[in-house]
Amino acid sequence: MVNFIYIDIYQNVNMKEALKIFKALSDETRLKIIEFLLDGEKCVCEIVPYTKRTQSTVSIQLSKLEGLGIVESRREGKNVYYRIVNPKIKKILSKIDFSKWWDVDRKEIDWYPIIDESKCIGCGMCIVTCGRGVFEYDKSKNKSKVKNPFNCMVGCDNCRIYCPTGAISFPQKNRREFIQSLLKKYDILVKAREKVVE
Ligand code: SF4
Ligand code: SF4
Repeated sequence: MVNFIYIDIYQNVNMKEALKIFKALSDETRLKIIEFLLDGEKCVCEIVPYTKRTQSTVSIQLSKLEGLGIVESRREGKNVYYRIVNPKIKKILSKIDFSKWWDVDRKEIDWYPIIDESKCIGCGMCIVTCGRGVFEYDKSKNKSKVKNPFNCMVGCDNCRIYCPTGAISFPQKNRREFIQSLLKKYDILVKAREKVVE
């Protein structure tokens, strides 16, 4: 359950290490790289096409991940290989399941960002502020677009707050009322209490 990942991190990882892990996961390219490396070491020549980013973007993010102590590299001939060296990140990622929210199919919940293309100036702020890979950059239009709407964390509206042009909206106008209705409909508070005392 996503809500308990944070508790789990702080129980098993010190604050400094937890901050490094959150930082590593807070960028879409870094998250993609980490996902790709989960099943073992990969060459940069494989990472670049997988992430669909430019070589320079991938190199910058790999070097950030190395600086954070998440990955390590080795050179073999002309190729550079990367692998995950922080075992905690594997544990944390294995617990993330965006397809459910408190055991409810996430697709049943109408909470996701919508971009008004006419207002989007392509600043990329939404991509930077969302750590869940909800957005991607549409190079043909020089604007952001919503790629994985149901990866959006129920109740979060950070990207709406940070969007400088007010291009982002959500299907529900009143966030508080919507969340309260979900809590009631799916008996979330009871489930949460059970989880806490487990
Ligand atoms: S933050 Fe707003 S203006 Fe910037 S890319 Fe995202 S939707 Fe477009
Ligand atoms: S609301 Fe939060 S989780 Fe959802 S897309 Fe925006 S930043 Fe990402």
